Amino acid sequence: MAKSSIKHDPSGMARELERWFKAHARDLPWRRRRTRWRSLVSEIMLQQTQVSRVVEKFDPFLKRFPNPAALASAPEDEVLAAWSGLGYYRRARSLQAAAGVIVERHGGRVPSDPELLMALPGVGRYTAGAVASIACGQHVPIVDGNVHRVLSRLWADPVSADDRAGMNRAWERAEFLVKEAGDPGVFNEALMELGACVCTPKAVSCSTCPLSSSCIAFDQGKVELIPPPKQRVAQPIEHHHAIGLVRRRKLAVQKRSTEGRWGGMWEVPTVESKRRLRPGEIQKQLGLEIESLELIGSFQRTLTHRRVHFHVYRGQLPVGNKPWMKSLKWIAPGEEMPMGVAQRRTLELLEWPDC
Ligand code: SF4
Repeated sequence: MAKSSIKHDPSGMARELERWFKAHARDLPWRRRRTRWRSLVSEIMLQQTQVSRVVEKFDPFLKRFPNPAALASAPEDEVLAAWSGLGYYRRARSLQAAAGVIVERHGGRVPSDPELLMALPGVGRYTAGAVASIACGQHVPIVDGNVHRVLSRLWADPVSADDRAGMNRAWERAEFLVKEAGDPGVFNEALMELGACVCTPKAVSCSTCPLSSSCIAFDQGKVELIPPPKQRVAQPIEHHHAIGLVRRRKLAVQKRSTEGRWGGMWEVPTVESKRRLRPGEIQKQLGLEIESLELIGSFQRTLTHRRVHFHVYRGQLPVGNKPWMKSLKWIAPGEEMPMGVAQRRTLELLEWPDC
């Protein structure tokens, strides 16, 4: 690690950062009123989802599920529909399971103890630290990708976020700083905000940074070198062949397995493959003959570890496919179903009015 004349003063750094946050924090819905439940929901939503999308979804979700009991007792389809657009639907299921545990074991109130928080489904050290510090004022650290980058630069530690020893150092540094914070919740949020808005991966704005006088990477002109660039890995490609089938002005949809991507969500009948399939192969994999299978359009979605090409077809079911049709649900135009973003795009291509 680089040698430097800078000696970190945790109390001074915490004060600077808290002052900066109070003056520059973005106005986000979950910051307007702090409760443990609102903190937990916002932190789970923000994992792997852009802030702008969470901004749209947060208030309607909280209106429908204002407390753990409301979420725990809701039908899963309703929870997934309210989550729709946020992606990674496993989080919605985990949040509902966590709400169930909160009702059963904690009298319906989100616990404040980080250990108890970490025992909830879908809650890791970061989320537990965020809720315990932001909603309960505890001096516990948090480290996510943004915070990791800020801390690596403050200490000029050229380590990537997937290096376990480097991540341990980041947690130790976060703890070193938060212990001296006046308000640990404000401090932790400020650290996240700094990583999101100032100490960004590219176009770093050191000239506006409240911690520039404590930053070794800035002092040594190494900001752009930390963290080191990730090694590019070729992304696997998948092809999803989605077939719009309409009968008596209703569209056929089916439920995905609860495991894996878009688990438990609804979609038009879809054949997944590692390569593009010909119409005959699609029909063979579906196990039925579809009349006049016609390609309507294609689009791509890039997920965390793969790229998916969607090919959207329109077809007609011949008479006599009754056993296979039992797995289908027929929805009317505008009928609300829990669907992912890609599935909604498929409906758009099929010119099917959804909610
Ligand atoms: S001075 Fe620059 S590199 Fe250092 S923490 Fe601030 S924004 Fe990040």
